[in-house]
Amino acid sequence: MNATLQNIFPIYSVSDPQFKSYQLNNFRDIPQISRLTEQQQFDIEVVGNVLPFKANNYVIEQLIDWERVPNDPIFALTFPQRDMLQAGHYDEIATLLRNGADKATLKVAADRIRMQLNPHPAGQVDHNVPEMDGERLHGMQHKYRQTVLFFPSQGQTCHAYCTFCFRWPQFVGMSDIKFASREVEKLVSYVKQHPEVTDILFTGGDPMIMSAKNLAAYIEPLLSGDLPNLINIRIGTKALAYWPHKFVDDKDSGEMLALFRKVTDAGKQLAFMAHFNHPRELESDTVKQAIRNLREANVTIRTQSPVMRHINDDPALWAQMWEAQVKLGCIPYYMFLARDTGAQHYFSVPLVRAWEIFREAYQQVSGLARTVRGPSMSANPGKIQVLGVSQAGDEKVLVMRFLQGRNSDWVQRPFFAAYDEKACWIDELKPAFGAERFFFEEEMMEHYHEPQDANTVDDFE
Ligand SMILES: *Cc1c(COP(=O)(O)O)cnc(C)c1O
Ligand code: SF4
Repeated sequence: MNATLQNIFPIYSVSDPQFKSYQLNNFRDIPQISRLTEQQQFDIEVVGNVLPFKANNYVIEQLIDWERVPNDPIFALTFPQRDMLQAGHYDEIATLLRNGADKATLKVAADRIRMQLNPHPAGQVDHNVPEMDGERLHGMQHKYRQTVLFFPSQGQTCHAYCTFCFRWPQFVGMSDIKFASREVEKLVSYVKQHPEVTDILFTGGDPMIMSAKNLAAYIEPLLSGDLPNLINIRIGTKALAYWPHKFVDDKDSGEMLALFRKVTDAGKQLAFMAHFNHPRELESDTVKQAIRNLREANVTIRTQSPVMRHINDDPALWAQMWEAQVKLGCIPYYMFLARDTGAQHYFSVPLVRAWEIFREAYQQVSGLARTVRGPSMSANPGKIQVLGVSQAGDEKVLVMRFLQGRNSDWVQRPFFAAYDEKACWIDELKPAFGAERFFFEEEMMEHYHEPQDANTVDDFE
């Protein structure tokens, strides 16, 4: 079929899945989009000029419930929503579009708005970049003792973009952060020199955007590199939710699964940190087959997601999601809180509410699903879990703890914040009992020269 015909009649056959990508420039070609009013389509265009937007035929055909649009959660997850921009920002772009502004003018306005949406300041990101022989290893981060993050240069995009994603500056070409690294030899040397490292976590974007050949170029040197301390290779990915064909019937699916099997054959464990935001993402025949194929290739699948308004802020939904995961042989791992960047005001769930959602969902599931921990903030000092609301004497408090810490000695020490029903992030909380600071703040300033609310690029995939 020639390219033009393919645009009109995209192919969705199970045996030959054609990945078709939709972005700002062609989303009006999506057949289902005509269900939206002209105003709703214009809203997508306005917000999509500021925040990145990318969907694909699997998301459109299999995940979105078009009967429920615009209130469908998967629609809200992938298509920009009007209220993701503040009214002033919305009006500015809308006016430019109505007046037929050229691309360059739109970009200047969009970049100015983006700067106000708290993109990651590069200086702070620099902080977790490891060094070896006096050289900074861009494309890696080493924040928690056991685990090194690795950002393969070819894995820095995704099969679709989540509207809430904190990596949005990277996708709109705004980031001057040097994530990308082809330097797998340096990773091998670094892990050799750091016997405390047991885990390498490939992250992105989505490393599973890569072909089997490209991924093999990263994985195989780790297997043959004589790294006795390396136990786990982890891959943070949303491919199971956004393009499960990757592990079923893509051109190189077989080669990919064979590569995965090599990891356990070499005596290492391969774990997917699979990103699922909604139980519907676990329903299609393709995703179920993909999970079966991965498990047969000895891949352990652990699951994680942020809790977000408009998408999954409902305990019944979380209980259903964890149960569906366990039923398919996946292991629930983390519930995260949405971080403070981009359109966070639109998605954020207050800490207290997130804890209620977690608790109500957790109560409903078997112990095999209670491997999940949360709700957790990936903040600068570490991963901070909200254990819950309690009372100490006369004071209502929030009990918190570190699941991961800059200093591992902070982990598993409960600490207390003054109760605050509205707070959405650690920097909005005050210590309980009239204390000046949280126990870790002084050390944070002294050793890391950073306040607790500085931005970091943690992995939440
Ligand atoms: C979450 C995260 C990890 C992995 O932490 P685990 O609790 O072991 O899953 C590693 N590095 C960074 C920077 C992270 O944000
Ligand atoms: S949350 Fe993950 S899958 Fe979604 S856009 Fe961001 S990096 Fe990609």
